[in-house]
Amino acid sequence: MRGFAVTSRNSDALPISIRNVTKTYGAVHALNDVSLEVESGEFLTLLGPSGSGKTTLLMVLAGFTRPDCGSLKFGDREVIRTPPHLRDVGMTFQSYALFPHMTVAGNVGYPLKLRKVSKPDIAARVEAALDTVQLGGFGDRRIDQLSGGQRQRVAVARAIVFEPRILLMDEPLSALDKKLRDQMQIELRHLHEKLGMTTVYVTHDQREALTMSDRIAVVNHGRIMQLATPRDLYDRPANRFVADFIGESTFLPVSRQGQTILFDGQPLLHDIPAPDTDTLSLMVRPERVVLSRDGPREGANNFAATATDVVYQGDSYLLHAALASGGQIVLRGAMRGANVTSLPSVGDALTLCLAPEDTVLIDGSEQ
Ligand code: ADP
Ligand code: MG
Repeated sequence: MRGFAVTSRNSDALPISIRNVTKTYGAVHALNDVSLEVESGEFLTLLGPSGSGKTTLLMVLAGFTRPDCGSLKFGDREVIRTPPHLRDVGMTFQSYALFPHMTVAGNVGYPLKLRKVSKPDIAARVEAALDTVQLGGFGDRRIDQLSGGQRQRVAVARAIVFEPRILLMDEPLSALDKKLRDQMQIELRHLHEKLGMTTVYVTHDQREALTMSDRIAVVNHGRIMQLATPRDLYDRPANRFVADFIGESTFLPVSRQGQTILFDGQPLLHDIPAPDTDTLSLMVRPERVVLSRDGPREGANNFAATATDVVYQGDSYLLHAALASGGQIVLRGAMRGANVTSLPSVGDALTLCLAPEDTVLIDGSEQ
């Protein structure tokens, strides 16, 4: 019997190569010429709004949906015509899709039964899989006796019990409340570190994607808008859609004069080169803006502004400010130091500062 190795099984993991995959439903392009390479052992997340094509792409990977065209390789093997049960892929579905009339052990053992594994082997491997998701001893329970979080773990145990080389998870935590979701995010991440299988994870929750992923593919209208590490995605979004979807930001129009980028007629200091486009915007992340209590700062971009709203939020505060030049900036400030005793008030004249390293220019066209 193959048990769950405690050390990483990375050597068994397979890379995935998706090339030019298109899937249409009538006039809807659920997937529009998608190409994506998932590295061996990687935890890659598909992040996008509802209806963007995430589930369709997972279904193509699992073999339940045949695309109109394109190729799909697991390692060196072309699998586009391979039926699901021969793909060596474990999957959890958007609805848990557990069998309610079966016990936990019956559910988890089902893929092994399909694969004609012997009964004693099934029992041992089910117990090992349940241990892995911290449900050891729950085998005899009925599904309707379990909490949401426990059901989700059963679904994960069922997906990993036959030790697939690829694991697909479709919004596995979306039905859970926030505390449990935060906890399960860390657990699933640890599980991935332990088992090391190439994982494609789907969520519409940007924070969840940032928390869990090695890399994130942002999906919109069946296309991949950007593929990057969480950090690069947040700090260097490729376009307005990504910048808007991930984190909070406000955008200000800027213009270009030769190599110089101007805001309100003033040159902007920026460490990162501006993209070569006619529709540039300055992206301002609220937590990167600094409130100066003693006027403009040398070496920073300074904006004269008036406070229009101050919102106390316990751990931090949000300040909305109208710029003298028109437009708006939102600042998130920490509740420490001078802020604890004196938050700005509505109507205060302020200087807001943005360091050159935090001055990010992006392609401002809406996509
Ligand atoms: P997501 O998982 O990102 O919410 P989906 O992949 O489920 O998005 O859907 C992408 C688009 O394809 C949506 O517009 C959806 O309505 C459409 N779609 C998905 N599956 C079908 C189907 N079986 N028949 C018709 N349209 C579908
Ligand atoms: Mg979906």
